Amino acid sequence: MNTLIINPSPSQWADLIKRPVINAENLEETVAGIINTVKQNGDEAVKNYSLQFHGFAPDNLWVSKDEIKDASKSINKDLKKAIHLAKDNIEKFHQHQIEKVKKITTVSGVTCWRKSIPIENVGLYIPGGSAPLFSTLLMLSIPAKIAGCKNIIVTTPAQNDGNVNDAILYVANILGLDKIYKGGGAQAIAALAYGTLTIKKVDKIFGPGNQYVTCAKKLVSADGIAIDMLAGPSELAVYADDTCVPEFVAADLLSQAEHGPDSQVILVTTNKKIIENIIDKIHQQLPSLSRKDIIEQSFLNRRFIVIEKEEEAFNFLNDYAPEHLIIASKKAEQLADYVKNAGSVFLGNLSPESAGDYASGTNHSLPTNGTARVQAGVSVDSFVKKITFQKINKKGIKNIGNAIEKMAEAEGLEAHKNAVSIRLKKSVNEKF
Ligand code: NAD
Repeated sequence: MNTLIINPSPSQWADLIKRPVINAENLEETVAGIINTVKQNGDEAVKNYSLQFHGFAPDNLWVSKDEIKDASKSINKDLKKAIHLAKDNIEKFHQHQIEKVKKITTVSGVTCWRKSIPIENVGLYIPGGSAPLFSTLLMLSIPAKIAGCKNIIVTTPAQNDGNVNDAILYVANILGLDKIYKGGGAQAIAALAYGTLTIKKVDKIFGPGNQYVTCAKKLVSADGIAIDMLAGPSELAVYADDTCVPEFVAADLLSQAEHGPDSQVILVTTNKKIIENIIDKIHQQLPSLSRKDIIEQSFLNRRFIVIEKEEEAFNFLNDYAPEHLIIASKKAEQLADYVKNAGSVFLGNLSPESAGDYASGTNHSLPTNGTARVQAGVSVDSFVKKITFQKINKKGIKNIGNAIEKMAEAEGLEAHKNAVSIRLKKSVNEKF
């Protein structure tokens, strides 16, 4: 497909918003095999897969408290400072997501309220194949702790020396996490879903990963285990007008493309000249980047589109429903009113997507593949159940009892009607 598209008609949009197709031949079969082996052989299976994919089998899947503490020694001062700044901001932002109990009197004598109760056992998968994503541990464990989850179980592939990455352990230490296990890929998801001797079964599994991890999450969720979402390849859409800074937009597109060959970037501008300026800056910046090869592969999936009318440009972006959306414009806050579908939005020329990946405070676990149309990213809400409560007194049952009787009768549910009638009769003379 041509990667520069000028004023596409809405009939062309369905093709333009398609994500790159992942080659998934035999994937489900392979992953189902791994899951079954872990179900049967537990810890031994997790260790054997580690040998197969990472070249070693750990003696013990559990990372000891001493190992977690010692990791601090190899983390330099500047990185520690950066991690603490990110931790503080993520904590500040997520702390405000706790919903306070509000008791609502719907009618005199009938009080209803909703209370958030933490999910007791949660499993966090932290990718560690090509890059140990310690930022993901911050993004998942901070809301889990704020929600009040009792058991936070972390699995991550160990590196080729058999140890878990020190930055991951450093983050675990400062957050007081002590259930860290060496396990990657589908085998780790199976261990979290069904439990092994060492790894406790959890109620809900969180975290992104490669196609094996995502497929395993899909299969265990079909078996009734809750998951946060199916986080596919990362994506970024940028809306840029004449007030954008082309070198910043170029840097943002390159930053997203370095995630992986299957990542996708989409640029929507109001005229062709802006795209030409941005492409110039991409050519200037790309050669010096260390993940140049990945970016070049990912750029095969890029789409640069001119849509002259502002509102129509945002209609298109809402159809695409990107995981990340940057509005590179001096009037970004005003344009933000058009946004209906997106995981996380970055407003103005000084708000790069990297800020949300690491340190501004928002969460980087976000819906991909168009699911932002209906789904939000990870938050404190993802780690709680919202239970409703109600208390009805004598006046209340009188106020709503007759309506319930009538509705139950109309639906043919006599026992439902009776559960109210019996109370209406008794509550006239008795105290409850
Ligand atoms: P990973 O931890 O997800 O996967 C590593 C594991 O994959 C290995 O331990 C191994 O068990 C398994 N594996 C590798 N080859 C296999 C094979 N041939 N058969 C079966 N299993 C195999 O680490 P990764 O590979 O670096 O991938 C990280 C992924 O996470 C990237 O695709 C990245 O885009 C994605 N990610 C997504 C988001 C998001 O929010 N959408 C955020 C961060 C990362």
